[in-house]
Amino acid sequence: MSSQQQANAAAAHRWREAIMPTYGTPAVELVSGSGCTVTDAEGKTYLDLLGGIAVAALGHAHSAVTSAVSEQIAKLGHVSNFYSHEPELRLAERLLQLAGVGDDGRVFFCNSGSEANEAAFKIARRTGRPGIVAADGGFHGRTLGSLALTGQPEKQRPFEPLPGGVSHVPFGDVAALDEAVDEHTAAIVLEPIQGEAGVIVPPEGYLRSAREIADRNGALLILDEVQTGIGRTGHWFAFQRYGIVPDVITLAKGLGGGLPLGACIGVGRAAFLLEAGQHATTFGGNPVCCAAALAVIDTIESEGLLEHVARLGKEIIAAVERLDHPAVREVRGAGLLLAVELNDDIAPAAVESARARGYLINPVRPDTLRLAPPLILDGQRANDFVRDLAEVLSEAAGGEGKN
Ligand code: PMP
Repeated sequence: MSSQQQANAAAAHRWREAIMPTYGTPAVELVSGSGCTVTDAEGKTYLDLLGGIAVAALGHAHSAVTSAVSEQIAKLGHVSNFYSHEPELRLAERLLQLAGVGDDGRVFFCNSGSEANEAAFKIARRTGRPGIVAADGGFHGRTLGSLALTGQPEKQRPFEPLPGGVSHVPFGDVAALDEAVDEHTAAIVLEPIQGEAGVIVPPEGYLRSAREIADRNGALLILDEVQTGIGRTGHWFAFQRYGIVPDVITLAKGLGGGLPLGACIGVGRAAFLLEAGQHATTFGGNPVCCAAALAVIDTIESEGLLEHVARLGKEIIAAVERLDHPAVREVRGAGLLLAVELNDDIAPAAVESARARGYLINPVRPDTLRLAPPLILDGQRANDFVRDLAEVLSEAAGGEGKN
């Protein structure tokens, strides 16, 4: 066994002795990160194409984030929601402006994507209507309310009974959505692009139809932008690709640039359905997390990262297509939320082979690799990865480096 393998085995042992077994045993122990790379306990460096699963928007230890965080924690680290503070107010105003809803919106801050969706769920309940229509395959979190919205029965079954009233329809199917939504429907809940289901991009026009169906039935349209929001698809919000505005937008992941921060944005009547005393969370709107988020947003803007993300995403898709590798069925996505679907269930093997070559990627499904790298990823590194992907896939398919 190499010293690298010995170190990994020792770390895995400690993990098993101390951590509740909700996750598989991790492959490596990471100790530091800088830019688009992370380094493990043995000093091996990896290109992080997973970004903490779409969290490290500016990569690791970006000076804009580290300065904002250290300045804010030295100034005011936390206040209860009995009091307001500058970073929270500025961030809320900024998000409303970026979403294009200005005075018509209000923000509830929380700590995660699941929590943002719990708030959205409670907003839907406050309409007084019982039903929620969500999508098969959709992922909205693992807390009980967000799990009820999640359209993956195998994740739900061990925890039944879940909060009721939620039905699921095939994602991307306008007729099925139209059929399911009626005057008893409080809300339609969708991801603009389904992330955990395998980066599934719905047919053109689907979200516009969802908006129209919600309006016609007096239901809210809730879009879960936890994975797609804050620049990930080359727009501030993925809904902006379709020229619609939802009633509720949920955010987390990249928003805090590595700090835990979620947000539930209500627009129009949805901004006021939760009344004083009806919802709360201790850490929501924490000043340090909000300061980090402001730094993330400022940097995305000042460095022109939306355009960069849109362009680089297209370049990566084209480059993977040019590989014309027999293991690849399809490469898809938007901006830097990408999936490489394979002809066989070799994604876990490909992830290992990629890691050995210094790349961190994720098997979002047994036959699909997901890339959600930092938005600052540069073209050269992306090219290097695509070049090495051919060998990675051949090795995973059993061809040991041959196409
Ligand atoms: N919604 C979406 C679309 C997600 O991708 C995720 C996380 N993968 C969540 C909600 C849940 O977020 P969290 O893990 O921060 O609770």
